Amino acid sequence: MPAKTMDELVALCKRRGFIFQNSDLYGGLQGVYDYGPLGVELKNNLKAAWWRAMVYERDDVEGLDAAILTNHKVLHYSGHEDTFSDPLVDCRECKGRFRADHLEGPKCPNCGSEDLTEPRPFNLMFKTAMGPVDDGGSFAYLRPETAQATFTNFKNVVDSTARRPPFGIAQIGKSFRNEITPRNFIFRVREFEQMELEFFVPPGTDEEWHEKWIQERISWWEEQGIARDNIELLYVTGDDLSHYSKSTVDLMYRFPHGVEELEGIANRTDFDLGSHTKHQSDLDIDANVKPNTESNARMAIQDIETKEWVVPYVIEPAAGVDRGVLAVLNEAYKVEQLEKGERTVLSLPAHLAPIKAAVIPLKRNHDGIVDKARAVKNALQKEGLGRILFENTGNIGKAYRRHDEVGTPLCITVDFQTVEEDNTVTVRDRDTMQQERVAVADLPALLRARISG
Ligand code: ATP
Repeated sequence: MPAKTMDELVALCKRRGFIFQNSDLYGGLQGVYDYGPLGVELKNNLKAAWWRAMVYERDDVEGLDAAILTNHKVLHYSGHEDTFSDPLVDCRECKGRFRADHLEGPKCPNCGSEDLTEPRPFNLMFKTAMGPVDDGGSFAYLRPETAQATFTNFKNVVDSTARRPPFGIAQIGKSFRNEITPRNFIFRVREFEQMELEFFVPPGTDEEWHEKWIQERISWWEEQGIARDNIELLYVTGDDLSHYSKSTVDLMYRFPHGVEELEGIANRTDFDLGSHTKHQSDLDIDANVKPNTESNARMAIQDIETKEWVVPYVIEPAAGVDRGVLAVLNEAYKVEQLEKGERTVLSLPAHLAPIKAAVIPLKRNHDGIVDKARAVKNALQKEGLGRILFENTGNIGKAYRRHDEVGTPLCITVDFQTVEEDNTVTVRDRDTMQQERVAVADLPALLRARISG
């Protein structure tokens, strides 16, 4: 069962070192969070799972890691300067500012006043000065999506890899949006990470590929522990469609605060490559693009047989890393009633668990046991399966509870029998709470099997 409230998740995240409010000691920075010792592991594991599925396990996707600072011309021709905005209203009474489309009725959510301004567009992009002289002209944007740099690198990737559509370019990285009202913990923030695939396809095959990607992405989220019943599909229509999209399907997840977007899967047509291309009039571009006088690249592929230049269509599955972390935590968080009391357990899929195994000496001051536990930890760490923790706190029961709460799949206890008799250890499983005796030599295979499910 998902977590009861967001507060429970927020409390767990702070208590156990997953996520902290940024600049907390100075009152915080609104809509900005930091990932702590366990959060960074969970987040890295989620990103690694996406990269594995997108790049390594497919034969039609290349990777990219582009810069955050973006030439403002890119975001001019992409349409973001003109249209990447949310409707802003001010309350004349309390001076609060809100997104008009997030209001419940024509009332200020702070003070209840109905004296609100008309909505006006507020551009969400962060600007920053470039170079030593801030003369207003030399500025760059912090990218609002990773996608644009994928489009501007399209020719570089095609020329260096000889790829032809259908193929994709995958990218994971930070994006920035000056959200009017950041809220709901890490759900809506101003600095976040995205995992975006731009999948280039021949025009005419776009709808079929769109459908395929929707199914692929649902299956992937299920592999991350998200119950299918907690995902709804939203077919975005009319004014809610982004300026570049022909059709978008949002994967909506049942977050603790409501059903909201986890990932958007858009058919971006030939809008972006068409927008960034030179000699647009020589090409058959379907989308309504701004005339481009500044680009020096032709974002098209020559058909080997017809010799015609074609601008590919793009299908874009775009997921938020932070929203993903929130969703997997929400799914995994459980409070279980036991015969004696209760336990909090995070039943994360093992490949996402921040710590894969904790190695615990039964006696914290017994040199033989402690040295052996350290050796077991070091050997297991070398298997490259993720973080293995050596934990010398001396209280096994408390260690089990703590590791249940942070989702560690296995606890390995080294005791007298290990060092004096048979080189076996006790392995306790997070989910079943069963304990078994295992030879030290068999630990790597056991952990590997547990992680690969
Ligand atoms: P929303 O409608 O919730 O503002 P969006 O439709 O603008 O989201 P996209 O532009 O489709 O979002 O971005 C792709 C993904 O990036 C989203 O599905 C979401 O997971 C993530 N994302 C977008 N904005 C934010 C944000 N402010 N904070 C955290 N994640 C975000």
